[in-house]
Amino acid sequence: MNRNIKFLHLDGAWMNHAFLRLSAYHRHMERDNIFFGDVIEKNFLEPNYDIVYVSLIFFDEKNPEFQKNREDHIRRQYPESKVIFGGCGSTNPKGTIEELIGFDSYFASYDYSMYENTKYDTGFSYGYLSKGCRNKCSFCVVPNIEGKIVSVAKVPQLFRGSQSLHNKKRYAKKLVIMDNDFFGNPDWKERCEEIIKGKYMVSFNGGINIRKIEDEQVHYLTLIKSHDDSFKSQRMYVAFDNPKDEKLFRRGAELFAKHGLAGEKNGEKVLVYMLINYWNKDIEEAKNRYEVIKEYGFVPYPMLYDDEHASEEFKNFRRWAIRRETRRTCTFDEYKQHGSKAPAMKKMLANQTSLFD
Ligand code: SF4
Repeated sequence: MNRNIKFLHLDGAWMNHAFLRLSAYHRHMERDNIFFGDVIEKNFLEPNYDIVYVSLIFFDEKNPEFQKNREDHIRRQYPESKVIFGGCGSTNPKGTIEELIGFDSYFASYDYSMYENTKYDTGFSYGYLSKGCRNKCSFCVVPNIEGKIVSVAKVPQLFRGSQSLHNKKRYAKKLVIMDNDFFGNPDWKERCEEIIKGKYMVSFNGGINIRKIEDEQVHYLTLIKSHDDSFKSQRMYVAFDNPKDEKLFRRGAELFAKHGLAGEKNGEKVLVYMLINYWNKDIEEAKNRYEVIKEYGFVPYPMLYDDEHASEEFKNFRRWAIRRETRRTCTFDEYKQHGSKAPAMKKMLANQTSLFD
């Protein structure tokens, strides 16, 4: 008998990738009925479910009981069902889809139909071509959860357009590639060729590891052209988090420059995340790193660690740096003095001076 399977999407603004795979399994392999919801409380008109999958991404570090309490509350809504929690905000962050269904489900592709006509569906295709990462950043859960990098899918498998089950619409070939370390994939070149031959537009949403990038890989980046995750503009995401990585960052940035992906013309297409208030509590260090990034024409984007306990100076630095107008019109010192009024004040002072010229 076909079972009733509910997917409860509680955290995150995007379609849940694990749900897409689990739904493909239940729909295609088990012929189950698929239901979708995004509020905890069960509506009295809903049927009973055999299984309820719940995705939990966020957690409250300061409240160790938070995850357990939230899960207990959800279980009480579905006393008749087997409730399965997953995601790094659950008490089972290492649980895998393979454990749940008993085999590697990647071949089964993705089933987007539950998200159709919901606010989560952008019309794009999402997924991983590889899992894992070559790096072991101390603040990141990926090395622990996913481990060594492995190739898991080919590019055409990510594209939802190939799924004709419920889609009457035609979807553009826009792929959000969520790999943590796209070029760490041993099959990166084949994946690049597939993107180019298939004429896919891509967004390397998981970022490009600039510290380990090679010349040939940058060449491929010039052929592929990465976009932001709403496909409105060309954009590449990289990171320069650890001040100790300056040499490695510069090596990668020089390769970008060699291939025309830096400088005045194209540098603005590269957004560089920089973690601040983590290794070093010295604002001068953050300012230096900011300047190194600017040297290549890239856009620095500070990410503030532990913002609750961060100093006002770090908070101001972040505010100043992430607003294009602010960082372009006034220095950080001016911003510190006058806050968000600094650009207007500077303009006003410039006008006053010209009156007396
Ligand atoms: S490079 Fe990114 S995914 Fe890899 S360990 Fe560091 S933060 Fe995590």
